[in-house]
Amino acid sequence: MEKGKMIHEGKAKQLFLTDNPDEVLVWFKDDVTAFDGGKKGTIQSKGILNNSISSFFFELLQSRGISTHFVKKLDERGMIVKRLSIIPIEIVVRNISAGSLAKRFGWEEGRRLTKPVVELYYKDDALGDPLINRSHAAALDIAAPTQLDVMEDTACKVNLILERFLATKNLLLVDFKLEFGTHKGQIMLGDEISPDTCRFWDAITNEKLDKDRFRRDLGNVEEAYREIWLRLGCNA
Ligand code: 5GP
Repeated sequence: MEKGKMIHEGKAKQLFLTDNPDEVLVWFKDDVTAFDGGKKGTIQSKGILNNSISSFFFELLQSRGISTHFVKKLDERGMIVKRLSIIPIEIVVRNISAGSLAKRFGWEEGRRLTKPVVELYYKDDALGDPLINRSHAAALDIAAPTQLDVMEDTACKVNLILERFLATKNLLLVDFKLEFGTHKGQIMLGDEISPDTCRFWDAITNEKLDKDRFRRDLGNVEEAYREIWLRLGCNA
C-alpha cells in the first residue's frame, strides 16, 4: 500500500490518498482539542489506542450488519477506510445525562434517560457545531430526509450493539457521536468510535474513562484510554 498525498488534516487525524482511489488512509494523532479548539494538548499514545479501539468497534459493528467505512487496520496508527463524501451532521445518542444535555436542562450528570435521546448537530467549526433539527437540515440542504432516516436508525442500532457489548466489560455507554458519509451512493458510518467521541463510565464506580478527563483536567487521561483498550482486549 502506497501512502499518497495528505488530503485533510483534522484535530485528531490526518487523511492520506492511497494507490486505490476508493480508499484512504486515516492516521491517528496524539493531539487532542476541546471546546472548539479552545483547549489543546497531547495525550501520549492516544493515536495508537484510538486506532485500535476504533478498529475493534468497526469490526464488531460490521459483524452485526452495520455498514461502515472500515476496511482494515494497517499498522499502529493507520486504518484503511473507504473514501466517503462526508455528510456534515454529527449524530449524538445519549443514554445517561451528561455534558451539554445535562447543562441544557439543568440536570445532574448520571441520570438514566427513559429512552435514548438522539440529536443532530451541524458540523461547522466556525459556528461551534450548533444543535439542529430535521427542518434545519432541510433548510441547510445538507441531508435528504431519507438519509436522515438511515443515519438515525443506524445510530440507534449502533447504540444497542455497543451498549450491550460494553455492559459485558463493566462499562456504561453514556453517550457518543457518529458521523456518516456516502460511498458510491451508499450511506456508511465513518469517522472513529473511541474515548474521544464517546463517554464511557465504569459501571460500578461511574469513573470517567474518556475525553472528559482531558476536558475537565481530571488527570490520568492516557490511563483511562488504555483502560478501555485493555477491557476490550483489542490489539494495539
Ligand atoms: P456533548 O454534547 O455532551 O458535549 O457531547 C455528547 C457526546 O458526543 C460526547 O460523547 C462527546 O464526546 C461527543 N461529541 C460531540 N461533539 C463532538 C465533537 O465535535 N468532537 C468529538 N470528539 N466528540 C464530540
